Amino acid sequence: MVLGTASQVPTRHRNHNGYLLRWDGEGILFDPGEGTQRQMLRAGVAAHDIDRICVTHFHGDHSLGLAGVIQRINLDQVPHPVTAHYPASGQKFFDRLRYATAYRETVALREEPVSVDGTLAQGPSYTLEARLLSHPVESFGYRITEPDGRRMVPELLARHGIKGPDVGRIQREGRLGAVTLDEVSEPRPGQRFAFVMDTRLCPGVDALAEGCDMLVIESTFLDEDERLATDHGHLTAGQAARVARDAGVRHLVLTHFSQRYTDPSEFERQARAAGFEGELTVAADLMRVPLPKRG
Ligand SMILES: [Zn+2]
Repeated sequence: MVLGTASQVPTRHRNHNGYLLRWDGEGILFDPGEGTQRQMLRAGVAAHDIDRICVTHFHGDHSLGLAGVIQRINLDQVPHPVTAHYPASGQKFFDRLRYATAYRETVALREEPVSVDGTLAQGPSYTLEARLLSHPVESFGYRITEPDGRRMVPELLARHGIKGPDVGRIQREGRLGAVTLDEVSEPRPGQRFAFVMDTRLCPGVDALAEGCDMLVIESTFLDEDERLATDHGHLTAGQAARVARDAGVRHLVLTHFSQRYTDPSEFERQARAAGFEGELTVAADLMRVPLPKRG
């Protein structure tokens, strides 16, 4: 769910950043800029939907919304703990935003700052990793990987005469009599999602994007302003699209647009000109973008 798509300043049509990823019943809120609380309302996202918050860096368009969202989580007495990840170097900013004004704390908000590349969390439905990016203030991108699984193949099941409740049994137990799970199924790679924002080209961008089913990535600038993009630690539409092309991304979502541009279709045109042939979305506020079906 796209809550906002503007870099630096909100515009008439774009709120500051904000994205909610729904993943197997969990909600992960990325980079809540100013106004995120109201965008959540408009998008039908409740404070209860948030289990985890991931902040790439402490510029306002990626973090000013923390104050409001954290207070709302407490006001609504969200019954589960919420975990927050953000660059450890920005702890003082997180502290200020968390305690920007007086309120009653009712929810366990776990602070898990990020200081190096690596795994942040591992559960049955995903592994969360962070990678350092390249921006004037320290910035980390995030990647979510579902564990690889196996997909049952009906023809193979039929060949071994396995049907009805036995299908569930062989899935759970790994074998049924002399037949093993591997004989009636094939590998199914886990879904992969990455969130890359704000950065110039660097090894972290490529590592995060590698093989993603969906990549949400900043393209603050158009290609003619590449010099400006690199100087300020940002990407152009063409750069983002080439990363996605080379990484084999299935669905590319471009966002975090500079207010200087008025025609969003130009981002699409430049991404296509850069040779990206997968599914492509130029994000708009309150857009819902479904994860691609498993390959
Ligand atoms: Zn930004």
